Amino acid sequence: MQSYISNDYNFIAQKTLYISLLAIFILTVLTAYSYYWNIENIHNEKLNLALAEAKANWNKDASFRKWATGHGGMYVQPDERTPPNPALAHLPNRDVVTAEGVKLTLMNPAYMMRQMTEEFEEHYGIKGKITGKLQLNPINKPDEWQLKALNIFESGKSNEVFEQQTIDGKPYLRYMKAMYMTKGCVKCHGILGFKEGDLRGGVSVSIPLSHYFAAATQTGDSIFTTHIIIWLIGFISIMIMTKLIKKLLEHMAHEALHDCLTGLPNLSLFKNRVSQSFKQKQRNPKYQFAVCFLDLDRFKNLNDSHGHSVGDQLLIKLSQRVSNILRPSDTISRMGGDEFTFLLDNISDLDETIAISERILKSFKKPFNINGDEIFTNASIGICMSSPQYTGADDMIRDADIAMYRAKSSGKGQIDIFNPEMHEYAIETMKIENDLRTAIVNNQLEVYYQPVINLKNQKIDGFEALLRWHHPTLGFVSPERFIPISESTGQIKELGQWVLTQACQQVREWSLQYCPNDEFSIAVNLSSIQLTDSVIHEQIEEVLRNTRMTQTKLHLEVTETALVGHKESAKQTIKKIRNSGISLSIDDFGKGYCSLTYLQEFDFDILKIDKDFIQDMGPEGKGLQLVRTLMLLARDLKMKVVAEGVETEEQLNRLKAMKCPYIQGYYFSRPLPADQIKALLEMGCHKDSLLLLNANREKAGKQAYS
Ligand code: C2E
Ligand code: MG
Ligand code: MG
Repeated sequence: MQSYISNDYNFIAQKTLYISLLAIFILTVLTAYSYYWNIENIHNEKLNLALAEAKANWNKDASFRKWATGHGGMYVQPDERTPPNPALAHLPNRDVVTAEGVKLTLMNPAYMMRQMTEEFEEHYGIKGKITGKLQLNPINKPDEWQLKALNIFESGKSNEVFEQQTIDGKPYLRYMKAMYMTKGCVKCHGILGFKEGDLRGGVSVSIPLSHYFAAATQTGDSIFTTHIIIWLIGFISIMIMTKLIKKLLEHMAHEALHDCLTGLPNLSLFKNRVSQSFKQKQRNPKYQFAVCFLDLDRFKNLNDSHGHSVGDQLLIKLSQRVSNILRPSDTISRMGGDEFTFLLDNISDLDETIAISERILKSFKKPFNINGDEIFTNASIGICMSSPQYTGADDMIRDADIAMYRAKSSGKGQIDIFNPEMHEYAIETMKIENDLRTAIVNNQLEVYYQPVINLKNQKIDGFEALLRWHHPTLGFVSPERFIPISESTGQIKELGQWVLTQACQQVREWSLQYCPNDEFSIAVNLSSIQLTDSVIHEQIEEVLRNTRMTQTKLHLEVTETALVGHKESAKQTIKKIRNSGISLSIDDFGKGYCSLTYLQEFDFDILKIDKDFIQDMGPEGKGLQLVRTLMLLARDLKMKVVAEGVETEEQLNRLKAMKCPYIQGYYFSRPLPADQIKALLEMGCHKDSLLLLNANREKAGKQAYS
């Protein structure tokens, strides 16, 4: 399980890393693309500006040339810069002299343009040139690019061309537009065979791009900085997100494998650790490990009495205390509730496991300080040692759990080691639990009755109803075995109600038949689970109504242990029951956690001295004194006393000597099925206990007791 989770975690973590890398890559590509797109745009924009400038220049040139051509050129005084143009030598009036004798020479438009553009180039760096495939002046010969442009003009594809070019190592935008022969052009260029309207050539303008590019570079620098910042923000965001996702995943993986209250590994992680130990054992058969199951004793009571928050804090502190006792290589986990498991890895033998478990239990002797209160707790531990029969964690945890249950049932604060019989016991428990559900409908249950003798009048005072189960395969199952199971499943409520109804019905019938003036009493055992049922008194009253049983003749028996942990709710129930006139007995008094304060706190009518006390009564000594003291105590508290488990005449005589009013035990009669009791009543045994004694003895001689 843990490996699934860690695999999932690794898978998602890896995927997150890939996605983050992809996101960084996409961010980089997009940023770079955006940067180059912006740079390209700026470059194009600058080129467009340069083109506009080139066109503006060209238009200016064209207007000027048009003017000059329209006026047939211009006469200037020849000097160094404007010598008579040899290309116009064929014109008769190239050179003229004014009336004042000033010499003038003709400057045709091309010549003028050349002069002007030279000046322009000098001042602004903008080159201009009129060119054509045929020219009067070889200086106007087109260069390679201009020739290409002239070819385009000739082809008619376009009448203007522009292109970025490097001239003398510097960038220029070259622009050239076609030029057609006008009337004024024929004067000079007609000699070359051009007619009006012919393509004469073109005018080219070269705009220096350096300052445009310088401006573009400046803008580009700030765009670069902006893009770097955007990229960094994106990169940092992705990194933070990745880190957060990683943290979240780690947290989730931890949550999935740990108990949220104590922070200890949970069952999944625990099983995984046990599986690791199994692998280790496979490699090295001498390798030993143990799985232990720890369950707190009466944790529910603590929760009920101190509240869940104290219970929670106790679990936290307890888990820390146990963790400190275990070695770092061991694993302790919380199964849930008050159940913990721990894995003792690489241990030498069972003794070491027991020693560690004992150390844990010993540590509980010290109280836990919770909110200033000293809380004591105890636990039961079940141990399951590794052995070749085990192949998986589940089996070992199950068996440690079984051993823990055994430890618990043999008294709290115990350690028990799993053995295969326990497994059978656990399986039988499951069977009992299961089959008990249908025991009533399958007629497998029967109420037995044990007479209670009034020693004063030597008559049967009444009976105690004791449940019997005839299981089809397990045979007779003792109530001491199945009652605790039915308590754990809650089925006791149904069983208890059934016993009560049966017993009341039966005893009422016997009373009517055999002693209508002095009805029999009936004692019915009440479990702790029934005591906590808030409507139990209503159910009891209903049974009494239905069976017409006299309230005062019903004695409900409660054990001391049934009161532990439910004091308050039990008090309420007991009060309601007693208010209905029903008597209450404290059963097996002295057997459990005998506390005299219970007698004071709860209003009991009858005290039933536990059979162990009766059987411990020797001719003299402590046993006898104890019973005598209990009797005195009951008398002082105005309680009736019933001595249970009277088996011998000596015991009877001693009790008689102590003036014990009621006795119950094998001496007079074992618990018997209804038909056998009926037979005894038929014989008049209810009127004379000696008759009962003899009848039972006679029967016992003939057959074994049931
Ligand atoms: P308990 O209520 O204390 O019942 C007396 C037990 O002592 C009975 O055992 C009875 O058979 C036995 N006993 C009576 N006289 C003698 C004697 O002289 N010597 C010895 N050694 N034992 C004697 P049983 O019937 O096995 O019942 C055991 C316990 O199971 C009862 O103890 C009671 O706590 C519980 N139980 C039985 N029936 C019911 C029931 O219907 N409801 C509940 N809640 N518990 C029941
Ligand atoms: Mg009883
Ligand atoms: Mg008893």
